[in-house]
Amino acid sequence: MRANCGCVRLNALSVGTCSAVPGAITYGALEGVPLPTGGADMLAVIIAQGRTSGPVFWLTANIHGDEVAGIAVLHRLLNSDIVDHLRGTLVIIPSLNPAGLRTHRRHPYYDDRDPNRTFPGVRKDDDRLREPTVFERLSARLFESMKETADYYIDLHCASILSIPFSIRDRVLYHDESERAAAEALSARLDAMVKAFGFGAVAEYTAAQYIAKELHRSTTGAALQELRLPAFAVELGSHTVSDESNVAAAVIGLRNVMRWAEMLDSPNEAMPPLPMPPDARTRRRDDGPYSSLAGVLDYRAAPGDYVLSGGVVAELRDIWGRPVGEGTIRTTEDSWIIGLEDGVLAYPGAAIAHIGLVDEAPLVEPWPR
Ligand SMILES: [Zn+2]
Repeated sequence: MRANCGCVRLNALSVGTCSAVPGAITYGALEGVPLPTGGADMLAVIIAQGRTSGPVFWLTANIHGDEVAGIAVLHRLLNSDIVDHLRGTLVIIPSLNPAGLRTHRRHPYYDDRDPNRTFPGVRKDDDRLREPTVFERLSARLFESMKETADYYIDLHCASILSIPFSIRDRVLYHDESERAAAEALSARLDAMVKAFGFGAVAEYTAAQYIAKELHRSTTGAALQELRLPAFAVELGSHTVSDESNVAAAVIGLRNVMRWAEMLDSPNEAMPPLPMPPDARTRRRDDGPYSSLAGVLDYRAAPGDYVLSGGVVAELRDIWGRPVGEGTIRTTEDSWIIGLEDGVLAYPGAAIAHIGLVDEAPLVEPWPR
């Protein structure tokens, strides 16, 4: 395992046309999706390498094209003196989805799949029944590059317009009991890395939901489950905009993770006050509460609130302003509100918020059958 040895070959690291140079920041590109009109989309790659060996830390953003705040975070991290103090190497890809970035859409226009469910891993559909899509092919190449070089990985996202910044850590799943001890060790290391970053954190959905949603094929999900890298996703508040306070906090968080990984020697920086879970219990990400009726929402809870079971998240009215049903949508469990759905419309069966629920399931589990 490369993860703990700190024995990176300082001169040997390349991603696409970008090759590391000790003590320098270098710029290049990884060829992306070939375009029918000629040429190919390209992923900009930046490598910042210190003069002494150490871990290789991959950092990416914008796989969802309308989630833009992570680009500024990565640009700001790359100040000119970072390599003077760095032990090891940063591999940075500011936009994993340039087509989505240009068109301001979550998905690239040439592939309808969620790009963050296209990485290698157990496929729900039988891979003999269809060809990999263009984005799956790109993700597979990117993944190979990560497999060769990465020791740690963070991918930057954004959530709904009204949402708090937070981190998401996946459960570590294992196929065979003989893998369990290593999975426990990986989970502990991941916990420490998430804590070093400093945002409030939730565990991912239940293992069964995780597989059903193909989150094991996300960037960081695949890195964790397939490559066994400490890897997690960060949510930087609203999509579409680059929120200054979240961007500034994330830059501090990344430098503090680099200190935890012994890539920087300087003292930890203080994190500005951030929304935190109401207590130390583990919480998992979930959606809810759900509306059973159609109507117009008037939210009565805000991101960061802790709404006890039965508390009101929104009032529900018809377009004339009259109450629909009981006139309220309430939590069914104690809920840490991490984000509200965009807009004000409710449809039967639609979740109206994103929440953190107290989670008693283990963070290391066998793959669900
Ligand atoms: Zn995202």
